[in-house]
Amino acid sequence: MHDLFHFSFQNGLGFLIAFVPALINLGLICYIVFFLPRNKITNVFALLTLCLFFWQITDSLERISIHAAAADAWDIIFCFSWSFVGPLSLHFSLLYSKRTRLCNSRPFMVLMYLPGFLFMALYRDHFYPHHFKYFPFWGWINGHNENIIDRLFIYWVALMVLAATTILLLYSRGIRHNRSLRKQSFLIGIGITVPTLIGLVSQVLVPLILGGHAIPLTSTAMTFFSLATVVALTRYNLFSPADLVNYETLLENLPVMVFSISREWRLNYMNQFCYNLIGIGRKESRRVHLSMLARHHSPEDRKAFRLAWELGMGGRAMDMVEWSMDTPKGTFCFLLSTSPITNNHQVAGVLFVGRDITALKRTQSLVKYKESLLEEAQRISHVGSWEWDMRTDSGTWSDELYRIHGYEPGEFRLNFEKFLEMQHPADKARVEAAVRQAIKDGKPFSYHSRIIRKGGEEALVFSKGSVSLDQNGVPYRMWGTRQDVTEWSKKEQLLEEQNRELQKINQELDRFVYSVSHDLRAPLTSIMGLVAISRENVEDPDQAQRLDLVQGSIERLDHFIQDILNYSRNSRLEIAPERIDFKKLLEEIIESIQFANSAAKKVRVTTEIEGQTPFATSKSRLTIALNNLICNAIRYSNPEARNPYARIRILVSTEGADIQVQDNGIGIPEGLQGKVFEMFYRGSERSTGSGLGLYIVRETVQKLKGEISLESRPGQGSCFRMRIPNLMGVVA
Ligand code: ADP
Repeated sequence: MHDLFHFSFQNGLGFLIAFVPALINLGLICYIVFFLPRNKITNVFALLTLCLFFWQITDSLERISIHAAAADAWDIIFCFSWSFVGPLSLHFSLLYSKRTRLCNSRPFMVLMYLPGFLFMALYRDHFYPHHFKYFPFWGWINGHNENIIDRLFIYWVALMVLAATTILLLYSRGIRHNRSLRKQSFLIGIGITVPTLIGLVSQVLVPLILGGHAIPLTSTAMTFFSLATVVALTRYNLFSPADLVNYETLLENLPVMVFSISREWRLNYMNQFCYNLIGIGRKESRRVHLSMLARHHSPEDRKAFRLAWELGMGGRAMDMVEWSMDTPKGTFCFLLSTSPITNNHQVAGVLFVGRDITALKRTQSLVKYKESLLEEAQRISHVGSWEWDMRTDSGTWSDELYRIHGYEPGEFRLNFEKFLEMQHPADKARVEAAVRQAIKDGKPFSYHSRIIRKGGEEALVFSKGSVSLDQNGVPYRMWGTRQDVTEWSKKEQLLEEQNRELQKINQELDRFVYSVSHDLRAPLTSIMGLVAISRENVEDPDQAQRLDLVQGSIERLDHFIQDILNYSRNSRLEIAPERIDFKKLLEEIIESIQFANSAAKKVRVTTEIEGQTPFATSKSRLTIALNNLICNAIRYSNPEARNPYARIRILVSTEGADIQVQDNGIGIPEGLQGKVFEMFYRGSERSTGSGLGLYIVRETVQKLKGEISLESRPGQGSCFRMRIPNLMGVVA
């Protein structure tokens, strides 16, 4: 043993023939581990290459050992390598050729590997003597030809490799449609055939059968297999997705609940998704019981779950049953599918696969809720919706649309002919034409029409629709709404009638007011004239005073009638704009006021007109408004003021005229300012008027599309501002 590490390099070439392939195989192992996808095939192939590496290392160390005992010692250490090349080759060929049933069968696997352990144990134990011979070129070589067990050992290894070769060649021959797979398997097949043949001839046929000396080339030749396989796997990208994915990894990463329940009603597997769901990390070593996972949301869920398991135990698969469970994260809903798990023709448990449909259910119930809202809205507003697929001539109506036509929802199947049938005979042609026109134009449309309800009753509907066009611009679908407007149209008619009636009454009233006021004024004017004449001839002061009182009363009455006439004129007459000469207009108004009212002379009235822009509006209305404002400014002047005045300022522009009537009179308390424009409002004891003046002013300004505002301070005065639009454009 002490000579184990004493080497002689006399036969260096023989050493290199084994050592160089060993290095190549070491490189291949690294390549397989780092660059090829990890799965069972590559795992077994990596192990096989590792064995080849050690086998070649053994050969190279034996060859340079200085005596047989040292070579034997190396062989004992590494004999596992050549012992297991046989079963590993077979295992690889079975996996590669997709003989999964054999690969998954434990007895078969045991049968395949066990002899290797037995033979190796006997060999290592020197159960029979080992015969190493020295050859000048090769160094020390084990001939394996002296003992029956030794021979059996070698036959067994050879048989395994031969079986692997056959399987690979048959597989390669059987591939029809996948060219690259065929090439790949062929390359692997050839890769294993070459060393197999060399091995069979050099190490089985020559020494064991022909009695010659073994030529130790098999291990070196096996490099041909490992190299060819790596090239084939890399070049032809062999793996199908199923080969690439490790099932365990797949199950753990699926966003789907996967678990299995045993025959004894025990949870025996669940994937990461389930762990996440019940809020337990995989790393926690806590045992998870079925009760922790299957927390049924309701008794129905418990029943459905149990039934699924029972069916599975009875050997039947079940598809898509809804099941809800409570988790720390809330209630989740799943679509469960189950299938029996069989082992040796016996059901060992049930596999549950659940797809999370919680979000889907939530959306579904939201859609349902929205649908019910829409349905309710349609019912309340008597609006129905419809859709018509022109290609199949089939229509869909909302429930309300059926009801509008007097039918039960879904009572009949709809097509265009049926739709036309329900129209009023007098409107049928018009409706059909409207629809055909819409199809032709491809544009939205709307129309009013009459329909005949199921009971024969007539109704008025308002329909609106749009046309959907395909990619080529060809209409293929129509959709829209139809509203029952029978009640509305009845009400509308009634309203129109009432409106007409009201207008008539109004006009009559206006005419009446006008003619009465007019008729009243005529005798009043005569009375005023007579009183004036009588007053001149009366010398008795008492009688004169009485006549003054009579005159004042008649003047007030006349004012009142004038106010009413103004109001009536304002509402009755259309606006006839005419050019306004503000200077002249103001002079006339002021003159007439001063003529009629002797007190007016105490108030200094001034005017300021700015802007030369031509201005037009309804002259009569402007006169009424100005007259009233100036009259008030004089009437409500402050008796204590030293210098009472009424100042009229007008600024004319193309847009309109800003008119200000300002006084330093008694003013209006703030609380009453909003009220002065009301009808018959009189805010002061000094008011001898009708309380109609400012009301008429506001009505007039509104009629002229203008605005009026007021600013006032009690004891200091008031300022009325009007803005009247310029209607010069209309005149022109
Ligand atoms: P009347 O003058 O006939 O009473 P108006 O409608 O013209 O009716 O005016 C309503 C009220 O507004 C008047 O009673 C008065 O109290 C107040 N008023 C109107 N103009 C002025 C003003 N320039 N200064 C103070 N008070 C005014």
